[in-house]
Amino acid sequence: LANNEEEAFQYSMEELASLTKTANGEVLVTLSQKRDRIHPSTYIGKGKIEELTSLEEELEPDLIIFNGELSPSQNRNLGKVLSARIIDRTQLILDIFAQRAKSKEGKLQVELAQLQYLLPRLGGKGIELSRLGGGIGTRGPGETKLESDRRHINRRIVDIKTQLNIVVSHRERYRERRKRNQAFQVSLVGYTNAGKSTIFNRLTEADTFEEDLLFATLDPNTRKIILPSGYHALLTDTVGFIQELPTSLIAAFRSTLEEVTEADLILHVVDSSSPDYVNHEKTVNNLLRELGVEGVPILTVYNKTDKVTKEFTPSYYQEMISISALQKNDLQRLTEKIQETVTREMIPYTIHVP
Ligand code: GDP
Repeated sequence: LANNEEEAFQYSMEELASLTKTANGEVLVTLSQKRDRIHPSTYIGKGKIEELTSLEEELEPDLIIFNGELSPSQNRNLGKVLSARIIDRTQLILDIFAQRAKSKEGKLQVELAQLQYLLPRLGGKGIELSRLGGGIGTRGPGETKLESDRRHINRRIVDIKTQLNIVVSHRERYRERRKRNQAFQVSLVGYTNAGKSTIFNRLTEADTFEEDLLFATLDPNTRKIILPSGYHALLTDTVGFIQELPTSLIAAFRSTLEEVTEADLILHVVDSSSPDYVNHEKTVNNLLRELGVEGVPILTVYNKTDKVTKEFTPSYYQEMISISALQKNDLQRLTEKIQETVTREMIPYTIHVP
């Protein structure tokens, strides 16, 4: 591999690990293989499979995740020799989207993408329909079962598409009613692995969230932060951008991210040590614009400054701050910066700590 290919590969594997954590998985071990091309029937080569089977005995993983898209037959063939459940990158991403989708449109888009992924793979090992509702079938259905599953899925796809048409045409009206509570809302956006959940966890560490009835109905990705002035704000960690997102997942991703249009402040976290950070930044900004966040202030947070080795030039055209999420002082500066925006945007919303 050329040097920058090697670098891109490393980032891609780190991203996969981050995605796995986001899906509440724990990474036991990471394996990679250099090949001229993907093995047509098993994705990885024979030697790698042997290495995997002996590692399986030692570590007993629940899941093996391939950092690519497995064809239906590759999935089947691997299933014959490996005992853990096998999923690929697309399935992992779909799982995260399914966890995170909140709006009706988001849920429909994710289910549609899941069904379209599933359809050509029916009958393979580890392909279970039960998760998708309807409770049909476990693994290895017989031929007749397979046909009825297929029909069932096709019907559901048509049904979802019809519903989506209706939902999308009513979207504007939904948006007006969106604002669910009166607190100042801060949303973290950015690429997976940029450090969003590190910032989220560290800013909300001191939180006694469970006891706080006022916010008790919020989802697990939203927590309270207390700003220097004593004001509360709500911080939400959104679903991360993904490098080379499969095109079949773009609609689902967008609709899952739509909640940022409700925010009062967007913290756009950029991994400034990533070789690709400029492109990442542009991609996020473009999508934010497309989602329609005009009027929502955006603070660009250049993270991982402790790791930056190469030249790094922040873009100064919007408000920004450089930090390392691992340093307490920097996080303090970040909350002060958030405070500034709250004060400026003021503030019919914010609730004072008694
Ligand atoms: P997310 O996918 O955006 O939520 O990213 P995470 O918060 O999971 O962070 C991805 C990885 O980067 C983790 O291994 C973090 O420990 C690490 N990380 C986050 N912030 C920093 C930072 O400021 N400096 C360094 N060196 N590592 C960081």
